[in-house]
Amino acid sequence: MSYEAVIGLETHVQLKTKSKMWCGCANQFGAPPNSNVCPVCLGLPGVLPVANEEALRLTALTGLLLQGVLPPYAKFDRKNYFYPDMPKNYQITQFDKPSSVGGFVEFECHGGLARVNITRAHLEEDVGKNFHFERHSGVDFNRAGVPLLEIVSEPEITGAQMAYEYLNALVEILRYGGISDCDMEKGEVRCDVNVSVRTQGARELGQKIEIKNMNSFSGVRRALEHEIPRQIEVLQKGGPLTQETRRWDDAGGLTETMRSKEMAHDYRYFPEPDLMPLAPAPAWVEEVARRVVELPLAKKQRLMSKYQLPASDAQTFVWDRALGDYFEHLAPRSKNPKAAANWIINNLRAKLAASGATLAELNFKPEYILDLMELVESRQISGTMAQQVFAEMFETGGAPNLIVKEKGWAQVSDAAAIEALCDQALAAHPGPVADYKAGKAAALNFLKGQVMKLSKGKANPNLAGEILEKKLK
Ligand code: ADP
Ligand code: MG
Ligand code: ZN
Repeated sequence: MSYEAVIGLETHVQLKTKSKMWCGCANQFGAPPNSNVCPVCLGLPGVLPVANEEALRLTALTGLLLQGVLPPYAKFDRKNYFYPDMPKNYQITQFDKPSSVGGFVEFECHGGLARVNITRAHLEEDVGKNFHFERHSGVDFNRAGVPLLEIVSEPEITGAQMAYEYLNALVEILRYGGISDCDMEKGEVRCDVNVSVRTQGARELGQKIEIKNMNSFSGVRRALEHEIPRQIEVLQKGGPLTQETRRWDDAGGLTETMRSKEMAHDYRYFPEPDLMPLAPAPAWVEEVARRVVELPLAKKQRLMSKYQLPASDAQTFVWDRALGDYFEHLAPRSKNPKAAANWIINNLRAKLAASGATLAELNFKPEYILDLMELVESRQISGTMAQQVFAEMFETGGAPNLIVKEKGWAQVSDAAAIEALCDQALAAHPGPVADYKAGKAAALNFLKGQVMKLSKGKANPNLAGEILEKKLK
């Protein structure tokens, strides 16, 4: 009997707002413990929450980016449970009337395109953070009340790698939309993994096992690579799988039971009485819709078809948005966008990385890259010399044609001058000359290199090659 896995992911992302969800405290990572707190986010009696409108906008924007539906009526609910990092003893969330319903994430997977449908995206609040020291524990409430968006997928993911690709695609969309920075290091994205297995092609879903609170995507992949075979093995041995929550032990590389279905919480959801329901007005939605951006995958596909870029270059421009914008500023005016992409990715990016500078700090005009390409195209300088011109231009901000003039770097196409250099090279390297005559064609490249060296890179390399060949015959 063969089995297949079914996976659904619940992804929590912290929204990129200035303040928290229900109060004016800063939504800020890394502040001293309990410095961004007030009576509201500390859950003191008698306080009232006020919804953060930007968080509502970002939630709606997420719905639009995922091509979901923004229901005309949404509300907040109380999810009741006791935990020391949640001082109200309930979390405000959206239970049956979320702010965004449906939609999908499309992404590249296993060499093709995959699509995972989204059940809903609902807005809630983050909790504080428990710290356990040697002899005591403490709670930092800075994170309590930070707006949190939970994006729930349909159970349509079929493997560990697909889950990994889905998560990466989802956070890339959220970053593009300015919804969240999705900084994993800061814990801005966490994920609950629901996974079951069933006999291949079966209609009914298997018993769901939930692995809670994963904070790295590679961890999710590793956990699934372990958990799926574990479940299959249990079924193959005839043993029952029961619905439970498990914990992933990354160091140990295994999952272990946290709680079974019998111990599941009864959250006693009820409508949050301190907050009004939401009925987004068309004008408000329209305003949010103005913030919709091109999705990363669409951008990659467009860069490939419009400018004939290879997938890897297009992907580089998707990941590095500033670099992509730089390219798109130049590309429409370039005769050879692929070559422009090469200059930007291979030369400019390397120089930026080496110097630690940002694109905004560049002291040469972007158009100079086109000018430089033109100098190579019209054979005024060689490709090798172009590297030197680029380096100079990066340093000084000077225009390429002025640099070439000032430095006397223009390509020499004077046959007599090159011929003299060829004679010099041939005389100095009798070994390679003999090799060439004995049939080693590669020796010509060596000799050509010598001519280029003698000319300090200025000789027209094609002409040098031709002259050498003639002389060697
Ligand atoms: P809960 O109420 O326990 O959180 P939901 O039905 O809301 O459960 O589903 C939560 C997540 O689990 C969703 O992402 C959903 O796609 C996924 N899911 C539900 N049933 C299964 C199953 N049998 N196998 C794998 N994933 C599942
Ligand atoms: Mg769940
Ligand atoms: Zn507060």
